Amino acid sequence: MTATSAKPLRAPGGVGLFGGTFDPIHLGHLRAAEETLRALQLDRIVFVPSAEPPHKTGTETEPMAPAVDRMQWLRLAVKAHPKFEVDAIELTRPGPSYSVDTLRALAAKGEARPPVFIIGCDAFRLIAGWREPEALFALADFAVLSRPPSNRGALAQWIPEALACAFDFSSDGRSALHRSAGTRLLQLEIDALDISSSEVRAALARNEPASAWLPPAVHCAVIESGHYRGANECAEAGNVTVHGRNERHG
Ligand code: ATP
Ligand code: MG
Repeated sequence: MTATSAKPLRAPGGVGLFGGTFDPIHLGHLRAAEETLRALQLDRIVFVPSAEPPHKTGTETEPMAPAVDRMQWLRLAVKAHPKFEVDAIELTRPGPSYSVDTLRALAAKGEARPPVFIIGCDAFRLIAGWREPEALFALADFAVLSRPPSNRGALAQWIPEALACAFDFSSDGRSALHRSAGTRLLQLEIDALDISSSEVRAALARNEPASAWLPPAVHCAVIESGHYRGANECAEAGNVTVHGRNERHG
């Protein structure tokens, strides 16, 4: 790793790819996507749900929601946003969902510039354990987002030396330019919401409300699906939907 005083800025435009388990999608994900769209002036953001996350299996008592359901909730969540889309690419590929395979498939389509892979700093810190991290960094720019509560530090400290050595870092350690691929790492301070899918699942499992953390349509669909054992809330959620519809249509 070498340090330069110049910041490797990125020209506006291009596509953001937001990968994740989205089990389920929550308002924290949507806030993160909106902030990244604005900060990098992206043309659009594509959410890519992982069919079989290599590092997450769920448990016998708390299984992960099926990929088709997580996908459907994503579709509901992005419906009203003109610059948000969902791509089922990882659902159509058998085996574990490796991001490097997804980025290679997209690169094969011949896009003019590499996409921006959007990732929270909690996940970025574990990237050395992902499949072919060196290849990942050459296939996409990375927007690494602040995420409470683990916000402290800079990119240069979060990335292991073995991966950092491919980059020239800015002097503040918050951005970097890949020496051979020309791709970038950018640390983005966003106005993040302290919400996690784990918390949402845990609340629903205790039959506590989670409506403050989910888009309303997603909340209803999650409750109706019966995942996360939110059975006692079904009646309540049904009432909310009916009440909302009555209000809108007088
Ligand atoms: P879980 O608690 O099950 O791990 P999660 O809320 O972390 O769920 P994921 O699907 O694991 O959601 O995350 C997908 C991506 O979104 C990751 O890069 C993660 O860092 C990022 N992310 C998740 N929640 C937030 C948030 N509130 N703010 C910023 N980034 C987030
Ligand atoms: Mg997570």
